[in-house]
Amino acid sequence: MKGNKRGGFITLMIIPHSEKPTFSISVTLSLIKLMKYIAAGTAVLLAGASVYFFLSYRELKARNEELSDKAGKYEAIQDRIEYFEEKTRSMEEKVKKLEELDASLREMLKNDPALKAQLDRKTSPPSQPAGLASRSGIDRQRALEQLEELDRRLEEQENNLEQLVAALEARNKRLACTPSIWPIRGRVTSGFGYRRSPFGRSTEFHDGLDIAAPYGSPIKATADGKVTFAGYKSGYGYTVEISHGYGIETAYSHVSRILVKAGQRVKKGDTIARVGSSGRSTGPHLHYMVKVNGMPRNPEEYLD
Ligand SMILES: [Zn+2]
Repeated sequence: MKGNKRGGFITLMIIPHSEKPTFSISVTLSLIKLMKYIAAGTAVLLAGASVYFFLSYRELKARNEELSDKAGKYEAIQDRIEYFEEKTRSMEEKVKKLEELDASLREMLKNDPALKAQLDRKTSPPSQPAGLASRSGIDRQRALEQLEELDRRLEEQENNLEQLVAALEARNKRLACTPSIWPIRGRVTSGFGYRRSPFGRSTEFHDGLDIAAPYGSPIKATADGKVTFAGYKSGYGYTVEISHGYGIETAYSHVSRILVKAGQRVKKGDTIARVGSSGRSTGPHLHYMVKVNGMPRNPEEYLD
């Protein structure tokens, strides 16, 4: 470029490297200045805009990250709520099953005279199941109420089952303490009640059951209990007496050998003595007695 200052003008001459003619442009200096200002202004504006866009971009990016973070957390919370709803539902099912089991146990046991009174006293009907959590909308208050209701039903069920177990334990104890087995297997030679005396022509009341068995055969306690007497009794010979509680006692007489001591606890089926013919007896046999509240009862009512 060739510049030629001439007063307030400059001339630019353009000489092509071919045979084409040269040409020149003349412009005023003030125009050049103006153009410089415009260029500088444009540069400043561009720089400012770049800074502005950069900052905006950064802010937008940060806000976007924040939003996606929040969305992730919300999703996690939603997942948790669904999990709790599912858990509540399955807990409710289990509580319902427990209540049904409790009800059928009571139904099965209701005809047991030993249990009836105990079961009737405290039974409360299973409560109505609470409605399931609604899928639409998260009702925290309702969810809490449901959980509290489940907790209450579980507690009630725990009490019911404890009561059932206590009643069954009492029944089992009573069953164990009720004579129910044969003290010895053998032929019944004399039943309970009035009979002709084997020692004369008179009639007498026979207060037990005579069971014939070979001398020395083992005699079993017919129920759990505590030995209250082990010794010789006039007429009955060597005798063991056991108290079973609930006013029930058993006695085993005419034995040849006593294998327990007074005060000793025995279990149903324990061997307590051996068959003999001590006392007023005509041969080896066991005289077996059952007394309820001190009165002799027919032992045959207490044999399986
Ligand atoms: Zn007898």
